[in-house]
Amino acid sequence: MPLTEASALAERMSWVKESPSSRVADRVRAFQAAGRTVLPLTIGEPDFDTPDHVKDAAIAAIRAGETKYTSANGTPALRRAIVSRLLRKTGQSYADGEICLGGGAKQLIFLAFLATLDEGDEVVVPAPYWVSYPDMVALNGGRPVVVEAGAAEGYKITPDRLRRAIGPRTKWLVLNSPNNPTGAVYSAEELAALADVLRAHPHVSVLCDEIYDEINYGAHAVPSMVTVAPDLREQVFLVNGVSKAYAMTGWRIGYAAGSARLCSALGTLQSQSSSCPSSVSQAAAVAALDGGRDFIDRTVGIYRKRRDLLVSGLAAVEGLRPAVPEGGIYVWTDTSALMGATTPSGAVLASDTDLAEHLLDTSGVVVITGDSYGCPGHFRASFALSEDVIREAVAGIAHSISLLRR
Ligand code: PMP
Repeated sequence: MPLTEASALAERMSWVKESPSSRVADRVRAFQAAGRTVLPLTIGEPDFDTPDHVKDAAIAAIRAGETKYTSANGTPALRRAIVSRLLRKTGQSYADGEICLGGGAKQLIFLAFLATLDEGDEVVVPAPYWVSYPDMVALNGGRPVVVEAGAAEGYKITPDRLRRAIGPRTKWLVLNSPNNPTGAVYSAEELAALADVLRAHPHVSVLCDEIYDEINYGAHAVPSMVTVAPDLREQVFLVNGVSKAYAMTGWRIGYAAGSARLCSALGTLQSQSSSCPSSVSQAAAVAALDGGRDFIDRTVGIYRKRRDLLVSGLAAVEGLRPAVPEGGIYVWTDTSALMGATTPSGAVLASDTDLAEHLLDTSGVVVITGDSYGCPGHFRASFALSEDVIREAVAGIAHSISLLRR
């Protein structure tokens, strides 16, 4: 049957959405192709180049013939590098069988749900959430249970709300710290309080997405649930990768640590779907993880200046309330005060999309709407951009908002 006929696609394709970030990226490219200047505050990846020593390691691997399938769980060298990174970060020594590897953290999260969810199982997802979690849960037969974690709670799920969200079918809590989109970081005390709830509900595991942990503006390292509650180690699935910390988004290497049972299940799924992540990228990831902190320290210093520039610029615009991110590369901004305002053409702003369209039309600034993250009345603005572009974008936003009648 030709795939052009709708009936050739599975039913799930009628409700799964393309990731909003990819959709917006396509839109930005289309605007640029049409010759329009756009200021894309939508960028979801570091704008730095991958460090030279990492590229060199990949080139050396190609020359040495490391261009064949590896084990589904990666090369021994990469597994060693991951084990020592996890030991440095969490104080926990993971055994070889407690590590898994994927084509990005994204694929590992997908596979973790595929490996564990039966039809109707539930996953607690605090909102605002990274756009992919609910769709990944649903694609694997689960039901996302979205729990509000708003400004009043510092954008973090409280123990009480977690307790109330847990039912007999709950399999996972998803905890993303530093958070995309809000930049919130769970403190050790907050993690300990959530751990108390999980201890009382041993049928619930926690998927800790720590992909932004190295992009951290706090005085201390971002705490990890396994450090705070080592007794829950079997219940914690810790997901990370090299994409954000080392500007390696295109290399597609993610790693995770958890129970040997889960890691072995993910290895099986990996072996039946992609066989293994790219062998060349694995060699690059070893160089990144074992290569010291110079690149991270330098880039975080630059991000910090950009963050301060964007936060102070947005805070100076009447009607916008940006939250100061403690980690990551985004500023989450409350725009609810602008709802109901009128544009010069007489249109009333009734949704996040209306505001985003107004910004794009009047100053070429592109943001991602809060409703994509399960939290309307906000936008996410990235600062993985030069200071000049950030200044220009802030001036553009201020101009667009000055045109509104309230
Ligand atoms: N988790 C979060 C919260 C993210 O923002 C991203 C990247 N946008 C990922 C996971 C996926 O990262 P990777 O490139 O390792 O797949």
